[in-house]
Amino acid sequence: MSQTAKPLQIAIDGPAGAGKSTVARRLADRLDFLYIDTGAMYRASTWLALQKGISLEDGPGIARLASSADIVLKPADETSEGKIRVFADGQEITRAIRTNKMSDQVALVAALKEVREILVERQRELAGRESSVIDGRDIGTVVMPQAGLKIFLTASPEERAHRRLKELEAQGERPDFKDLLAAIKKRDHLDSTRAVSPLAKAFDAVEINTDQMSIDQVVDTLEKLARQAMSDKCLT
Ligand code: C5P
Repeated sequence: MSQTAKPLQIAIDGPAGAGKSTVARRLADRLDFLYIDTGAMYRASTWLALQKGISLEDGPGIARLASSADIVLKPADETSEGKIRVFADGQEITRAIRTNKMSDQVALVAALKEVREILVERQRELAGRESSVIDGRDIGTVVMPQAGLKIFLTASPEERAHRRLKELEAQGERPDFKDLLAAIKKRDHLDSTRAVSPLAKAFDAVEINTDQMSIDQVVDTLEKLARQAMSDKCLT
């Protein structure tokens, strides 16, 4: 938990595959902040809907499910390949929520107003308790517009597809680059054109393009910005 007197919220938004979750988790570790992976909440809600046979267009139905379910995020460990561990009603779904198929379906659920209302409320509650790094699509614009530091992390679709290819190959899969690129572009389109809380850069966010940067370089850059924001906060 953070030692700063006033909690600081760091919002990290950006498109799929820009490296948000890896960077956000490492930044949170360095600062000793809580890490909140909001994408995992949308993924867990989608998984629950599929399990219960609820249509992925049924906003009120999935919102009811998401509010009654016990969705728990736990820190990554050696079993989870650097991803945070996710549980729904006691069952571990860390891997199940990160398949390619699930990534396509979650964008549909994330477009549902009723589901967003429930999850945004939960995200605000978690982030309000202590200093945190929160990653998602609408954190700086909707969830935490008052965040002390806002980052918009981007990379070209080709670079993001290339990173995903390497990740899947490391897991023994042999995906097609063109398919991955098409899926990334489709998800970008769904995320940025949906009516409710589309992916957007907050006017006061710092934009960082990670095409030519290693993960360490991105985390170093963010750590500097975060420490600056922490000292500014102490001075105000
Ligand atoms: O970040 P991640 O890829 O795990 O997010 C999965 C999906 O959840 C995204 O494609 C997006 O549709 C949705 N999402 C969202 N708002 C957030 C976080 C994720 O709409 N704050």
